[in-house]
Amino acid sequence: MRRREFLFGAAAILATPALANPPGPFEPDLFPPLNSRADYIAWMAAHRGEDPVILGRRWDRYLEVLKFNDLWTPADKRAFLFTPREEFVLPQDRDEAYVGHYLDIGFGVTITPPGTMGRMTSALLVKPGERVLEIGTGSGYQSALLTYLTDAVYTIEIIPELAQRTRGVYDRLIGRGYREYANIHTTQGDGYYGWPTAAPFDKIIVTCGIDHIPPPLLQQLKPGGIMVIPVGPPGAQRILKAVKSVGADGEMKVVRSDIFGGAVIPFVPLTGGHQNEG
Ligand code: SAH
Repeated sequence: MRRREFLFGAAAILATPALANPPGPFEPDLFPPLNSRADYIAWMAAHRGEDPVILGRRWDRYLEVLKFNDLWTPADKRAFLFTPREEFVLPQDRDEAYVGHYLDIGFGVTITPPGTMGRMTSALLVKPGERVLEIGTGSGYQSALLTYLTDAVYTIEIIPELAQRTRGVYDRLIGRGYREYANIHTTQGDGYYGWPTAAPFDKIIVTCGIDHIPPPLLQQLKPGGIMVIPVGPPGAQRILKAVKSVGADGEMKVVRSDIFGGAVIPFVPLTGGHQNEG
């Protein structure tokens, strides 16, 4: 008993923060200090047991992302600062995890740059408890980011091997103590058709590009819900925010706006069955 107290009491608090493992639990009211790089790194190393060198890179990218107004609320900022992007890139790219551009993640697809993901996430205006659907799990980073905003995340990936690999990434992280990732529900399939058995959703984020908004996704969005989706010709999409409303007469209205002021942003194509439809 004395030994237990010794291990889990004062000595554990005094132990080198960087060695704290597993990470302490994420709580909705837990915010890291945002006043200085050093305070952020020390706090995160103590609470999450993450590597101070990597935390420094995450902080530096955070400052860059802020310059472009890609993170809007304190909750959006906290989500970015909590998500270990290095766990979602290929192992050989771990040191590159916080670069500002796309990285290859295998299977011919990429992880979206941090700023683009930050702004797409911010534009969803996710509130705690909301149900969010992601189309295009890919690396798994986007859904991980969402778990710091709500506890009900659903994500669909069409490439079976990638869906399986990323499921494994989440499972290993959950095993290491990132228990918030247990709130991510994964499935393999064609996200064009949404996830009917888990619908309706408050928010939908599509992370692959298509030339129109898939009608099944609009159907599965609640009235008042928001969808963020790259729309346009192959390799040259604009990122739209679509807000759905339903009038007293039952008629659906969709108001669209461009969250990057008209900038063209290339995305991996949304593949699947709709391409064969007449
Ligand atoms: N959100 C991802 C971005 C990955 S790129 C991340 O955080 O890394 C887009 C992903 O969409 C790719 O993995 C691609 O395979 C997937 N995708 C393309 N078409 C799809 C479809 N019809 N349904 C589900 N996923 C699809």
